[in-house]
Amino acid sequence: MSLSPPPNPELPTTDLFIDGAFSAGATGERRDVRCPTTGRVLATVSEANSDDVLRATAAARRAFDLGGWPHATPRERAAVIERAAAILERDGERIAELETLDTGKPLAESRDDLAQVADVFRYYAALVRTEAGEVNRAEGAALSLTLRRPAGVVAMITPWNYPLLQASWKVAPALAAGCTFVLKPSELTPLTTLALAEVLAEAGLPPGVANVVTGAGATVGAALVDDPRVDVVSFTGGIATGRLIARAAAERAARVALELGGKNPNIVLADADLAVAADRALDAVFFHAGQVCSAGSRLLVDERVHDELVARVCARAERIRLGAGWDVGTEMGPLISSEHREKVEGYVALALAEGARLAVGGARPAEPELAAGAFLRPTVITDLPSDGRVAREEIFGPVLTVERVAGLDDALARANATDTGLAAGVWTRELKTALTAAERLRFGTVWWNDFHPYFPEAPWGGFKASGVGRELGRSGLREYQEEQHLYLQADPRPSGSFGRSG
Ligand code: NAD
Repeated sequence: MSLSPPPNPELPTTDLFIDGAFSAGATGERRDVRCPTTGRVLATVSEANSDDVLRATAAARRAFDLGGWPHATPRERAAVIERAAAILERDGERIAELETLDTGKPLAESRDDLAQVADVFRYYAALVRTEAGEVNRAEGAALSLTLRRPAGVVAMITPWNYPLLQASWKVAPALAAGCTFVLKPSELTPLTTLALAEVLAEAGLPPGVANVVTGAGATVGAALVDDPRVDVVSFTGGIATGRLIARAAAERAARVALELGGKNPNIVLADADLAVAADRALDAVFFHAGQVCSAGSRLLVDERVHDELVARVCARAERIRLGAGWDVGTEMGPLISSEHREKVEGYVALALAEGARLAVGGARPAEPELAAGAFLRPTVITDLPSDGRVAREEIFGPVLTVERVAGLDDALARANATDTGLAAGVWTRELKTALTAAERLRFGTVWWNDFHPYFPEAPWGGFKASGVGRELGRSGLREYQEEQHLYLQADPRPSGSFGRSG
């Protein structure tokens, strides 16, 4: 057997997008972008350097300080954002294919990402038209208003797991707020972000409002964060990088928003509907091969239902079909790279060293047609001790670990015993139990009898080391606005406070 031939979508322009036009980087250097499924080179993309970053931030600064975008009415901005949504829908299949080639995820997941991207654009186009300031209490013939102004030039840095979706959570609200931006996608997955640059240009965004620079994090990303022309840094990625970025931004007191990693507990209590909980425990961890910031990779199961639930999960995990994302019937694709696979395999080995038991997977697939890709079999590890590293650290791969708990209190104590707090799930038939759990779980999202739903109307972000700030919802717009207090005095009078004696 062999993989079907990959789709052949039209590639976007693979140069830097600065000031409304595509151009090569200053050094002429290019970087190969590889398909994680086949290992083949998909495209070679311009590698920016610090001069290119300066060109991009200068263009974004000019567009903000001298251009019309920050002063356009919400209706005018919404019209452009709506047009971008329509183009994303028109080109959705092509861009979804690019995303699958670049990330390895099944095409059904990429199509879902694309639908969500267009929806996020439409949501912020609508939301910004509902924006009004607030009237504060003031004395006499004065008016005190809280207004929301665009925050300025935004540097956006995004990861490789949801390249276009994560970009849309920043781009749509920033544009709606009237900001200009420079976006740096992950060097591993830049293609759909370059396609987005084309979409925004076609939608009629003025030159300089949107800029995309491609290249390495340590050079291009760091230069962006350090650039004094940048007012806000919005980053999604790993915790270690987030800490570096927060430190660099603090040097010049720039605003930062951080969406970082998590170790997300999925708690199954004794009264849960076990058939549904088992089915959804698989979704929770195996979407995009577990490379999801909110992956429910840590299953905490009441000891009374532990064996039954684990048996159900393992039986299904064993049957998950690996393959190319473009092949119909593929349930799980490869990991992003062989280096990343080695990191995930390291965690499997560590779990076993900590005393856990390998129940399913743990190895690379034997099928020769999968040998060129960074595949790893879906893995279930049971009897994981709660006090080891594996119970606390993000694995970011198709590895579900199971811990046995003695009921609600025990589950909550263990769930909270991590540095991060992104998302948690609780399975029980009792609403009262779910509400108690939600109050005590220190996580930015708590799902009851579900796992993973997020949508534009609700905020997304983490407690503790999972981040600073929120994306999506009204809070997602606030990240790109500055509050301004406007005080209007209709009856000015002298105070006579100074210089009265002479
Ligand atoms: P990463 O931190 O390695 O890279 C993210 C981005 O930062 C890339 O564009 C990279 O080039 C850039 N970068 C790297 N070093 C930099 C530096 N010194 N200065 C500036 N930029 C730099 O993360 P990743 O491996 O691409 O993504 C996986 C991580 O992202 C996981 O930890 C995951 O949990 C997290 N994530 C979080 C969310 C969320 O919403 N909370 C969403 C998706 C991914």
